[in-house]
Amino acid sequence: MPALLIVTDLDGTLLDHDSYSFDAALPALKRAAAASIPVIPNTSKTRAELLGLRERLGNADPFVIENGSAICIPEQHLHLYPEHDETEEGFIELPLGTPITEIRAVLDPLHAQFRFETFAQWSIDQVISHTGLSPGDAADALERRYSEALLWHDSEAARRAFVDILSSHHLHALQGGRFLSVLGKGADKGRALERLRQLYRSVLGETPLVIALGDSDNDIAMLETADVAVVIANAHRRAPQVNAPEVIYSRATGPEGWNEVIQQLLDRFQADEKR
Ligand SMILES: [Mg+2]
Repeated sequence: MPALLIVTDLDGTLLDHDSYSFDAALPALKRAAAASIPVIPNTSKTRAELLGLRERLGNADPFVIENGSAICIPEQHLHLYPEHDETEEGFIELPLGTPITEIRAVLDPLHAQFRFETFAQWSIDQVISHTGLSPGDAADALERRYSEALLWHDSEAARRAFVDILSSHHLHALQGGRFLSVLGKGADKGRALERLRQLYRSVLGETPLVIALGDSDNDIAMLETADVAVVIANAHRRAPQVNAPEVIYSRATGPEGWNEVIQQLLDRFQADEKR
């Protein structure tokens, strides 16, 4: 079997869009763990949100936060990045994006010109009502380091003007399942995947084959950097258009689709190994 890496979006992909449950993916997650295949979350979520979720998943692999803004490498995997100086709360963080303070300095004056609401303006209760997250998870969602999430209330034309202004400040906007994220130009789920592939290549001595899974437009850069791109069906919108060496569309949505396709792929690679 080739060395495999599974890199996965969370909301609407490994986690159910509405309930945030991953139970339906447990059989495939257990098989990946048994085969020592890293499962690397690559998500719009924050580092604080990931910490609790990794515990529930029993996952100790590196992860990518805030839409490709930083790669977090846990202490158990420091061999992936031997050049590091020090860890913070048990992780090395390799930033690709722009610090949140710089992003907020650009966004704050734009409230005078455009109609939008940001996470920074919301109380925990408002975050809960907009996301359906539990109180603890909502507090973690507010601990943003590299991106601001916002709800757009203005016209499409205004939105284009807004994006042009962001671009002149080396920022860009990404539409996720619920929110528009504003982040640094260097933050990119695809670039983060490529960096991970290089980090693993140096420890594995071979380039791993990367399976990436996602369900929406903000996953396209990640899916197109993978060897096998898995587009998870989403009942709320049409599937993104993806160009990759191999593209697989799941039939089921969310974690059920994740389980279906990862099981198929593991069947294929493990059969190749026996041959
Ligand atoms: Mg998603």
